[in-house]
Amino acid sequence: MKENFKPNQDSEITLTELMLPSYANFSGKIHGGFILSLMDKAAFACASKFSGHYCVTASVNRVDFLNPIEVGELVTLQAKINYVGNSSMVVGIRVTSQNIQTGKVKHCNSSYFAMVAKNEAGKNVKVPGLILKDENDLRRFLRSIKQLKMRKQRDIEFKKEEFSKKDFSNYKKLLENYNVNLEL
Ligand code: GDP
Repeated sequence: MKENFKPNQDSEITLTELMLPSYANFSGKIHGGFILSLMDKAAFACASKFSGHYCVTASVNRVDFLNPIEVGELVTLQAKINYVGNSSMVVGIRVTSQNIQTGKVKHCNSSYFAMVAKNEAGKNVKVPGLILKDENDLRRFLRSIKQLKMRKQRDIEFKKEEFSKKDFSNYKKLLENYNVNLEL
């Protein structure tokens, strides 16, 4: 076996919290921002556990609030590492919420946090490699590679300095089907 490679089971964490009235907005649903903060906590714990270093949040990919969360429900966040780079990791988080009285569980959110491992001096440090053990591990790792590539391509296409050099005719054509009126 290659050295310093770890399975993502070593990163798994579960965070459970009962939703109190103080976390709710005026319509009695839990604030999205509160859930985001729990997700950030889970991502931090997961990435730090896996890498053996304290980590910082670099970016968040997709936060779709699929179902509202009510006061009194028990929210569970399950997190594990989906991808590792040199000093970066992608933590996947699944958020579910359970009604205490009926036991019914709903899926509320799945998000992917990019985290970076840092040393005491605040410098990026190398993280262990990832051992992929099953089809889900493979699917999530490959999907992360694709997502990172697509993000890079999009950044290049829309880089400010490059964009102004482009021929806009294709973009203008594309925008004909959108709810915009071009006045430039
Ligand atoms: P998926 O990413 O398409 O598989 O969507 P899911 O909603 O099933 O899961 C979202 C993310 O949560 C996954 O990418 C995993 O990183 C993480 N995750 C899912 N299931 C579990 C689990 O049972 N335990 C832990 N610790 N993490 C999980």
